[in-house]
Amino acid sequence: MGIEFSNINRVEKLKNASQNKYDLIIIGGGITGAGIALDASLRGMKVLLLEKKDFASGTSSKSTKLIHGGLRYLKQLEFGLVAETGRERAVAHNNICHLVHPENMLLPIVKNGSFSQFSASIAISVYDRLANVEADQRRKKLSRKDIIETEPLLRKDILKSGILYFEYRTDDARLTIELIKAAKRNGADAFNYAEISGFKYTDDQISGVICHDLIHDMEFEISATHVVSSAGPWVDILRTKDDPQTETNLHLSKGVHLVLKKEDFNIQNSIYFDAFDGRMIFAIPRGESVYIGTTDTTFKGDKDDIRCTIEDANYLLKALNNMFDMPSITLDHIQSTWAGLRPLIQQKGKGTSELSRKDEIFISDSGLISIAGGKLTGFRKMAKRIVDLLEEKTSTKYGECKTKDYQIHKNPFKNYKEYLDWIDKVDSENNDLSRPEVEFLLSTYGKDALKIIDDAQSSDLVESQLMYCINNENVFHPLDFLDRRTGWLFFDIEKVKNHLEKVTKIIAREFSKDETWITSMIKECKNKVDINSLKELKHSN
Ligand code: FAD
Repeated sequence: MGIEFSNINRVEKLKNASQNKYDLIIIGGGITGAGIALDASLRGMKVLLLEKKDFASGTSSKSTKLIHGGLRYLKQLEFGLVAETGRERAVAHNNICHLVHPENMLLPIVKNGSFSQFSASIAISVYDRLANVEADQRRKKLSRKDIIETEPLLRKDILKSGILYFEYRTDDARLTIELIKAAKRNGADAFNYAEISGFKYTDDQISGVICHDLIHDMEFEISATHVVSSAGPWVDILRTKDDPQTETNLHLSKGVHLVLKKEDFNIQNSIYFDAFDGRMIFAIPRGESVYIGTTDTTFKGDKDDIRCTIEDANYLLKALNNMFDMPSITLDHIQSTWAGLRPLIQQKGKGTSELSRKDEIFISDSGLISIAGGKLTGFRKMAKRIVDLLEEKTSTKYGECKTKDYQIHKNPFKNYKEYLDWIDKVDSENNDLSRPEVEFLLSTYGKDALKIIDDAQSSDLVESQLMYCINNENVFHPLDFLDRRTGWLFFDIEKVKNHLEKVTKIIAREFSKDETWITSMIKECKNKVDINSLKELKHSN
């Protein structure tokens, strides 16, 4: 495997980009921009995607990581949204099965809870039907006895029964990077650390962007026929940059997740349970951890510094301790946290939790097209709507959307069974790797894990993963690797602490960076670990 997607020779690549004229420039490398890049490049457009930080560093690494229709939206009568995202679950699984896993979701029915057995059965049956769920994947009712056997930590004094239904779980940041890699394979260009600082106009119509390369502090003007902003929570900032008089439309809602050790909160299934205030919360096992979320509160602060506060953490702990019967979980049990912003569309008179999760497209007088809202799960359909719109606006015909049956990974598994068989095979052939390590490698890199394992013979497993990510996934900053490419910052904080120095030094070696750079990167990463693990908040309590 050679160097396919890296920041090596970056200035030269950016200079080349500035000499090109693109059919489409996409602002923002979250799931929305990544999905658009793949759809447009598959239809034959010449595409450039520009992301101001790392790919997926915005909301697209901070979600609950579910590919789901959203049972709760049925209560808000959002049938269209549930049907679309519900159906997209199976499409996403078929498009990249090592990253979109089937997941049992348990809904406990409790005294005074959101659902009775009757209303839950109706809701999940509507959910299954809207989403065209296969008969063998439909809901199963569990008696009180069954559910106590399956999840003994649930509070027995309020538990009545339960329903097991079917969802999918993903890694949002990896899904985003795999989409961008697939777009690259189809001719797209993409850069992280490339911020749009302004626009170019011809006869008052947008004709390109001014791109600030944050690594080398250089500016490039780049031309395009169309400019689409999929900047998530920052969409209004770019629309105002284009037209200071424009009406802003976003309502930002913060959502927080906490990560606990599985040994402290040992559940077998994902559980969707009632909080104490009428909201519902997910608890989702992942490897040796379980994560819990989310909150939903209006956010008006700095969009580039979103953190879990003591109030957020206490709210989620209270919800947990209210539903599960075990020694109380406290701030000290929290391994890590993450916080993200939902870019929701304003609706007069509605509270944050009631706002629709539907996406919306805004077309400015200059021709700038912006898209915001929506769900991770709906990325493919959102992309299709945008590229269909571009088709309508131009005389060139690019043809039909091709993403529905497209295999996103370069070396895909034929189906989920083949993926599971590979885990057994790689596990049996590699005595020096534990089964959880094999599962992690295959669910993270797909079949490319074999090459990584092979290369580890001459280095070690962390170095071979890092080199793969530098050469094929555009890693530049240690957190690109430790957070977005591996998820260790959330789910394996000890690995981050143990390998931070080594990772930083290897990156410095590859990009010819000096000791000052290494020291400042290590300091920045340690600070991020402290913020995520709530170090100061724990001590001040
Ligand atoms: P983002 O991921 O925020 O991407 C926008 C990007 O634009 C950012 O990376 C940003 O850096 C970049 N950018 C901004 N300004 C510029 C600029 N000037 N130049 C260049 N780049 C720029 N959905 C689900 O389907 N399932 C879930 O389980 C789920 N859970 C969620 C839980 C929470 C707490 C939250 C907050 C959301 C959840 N969602 C979920 C929704 C989903 O995560 C979002 O809809 C989705 O990630 C939004 O992606 P995006 O690409 O539009 O925005």
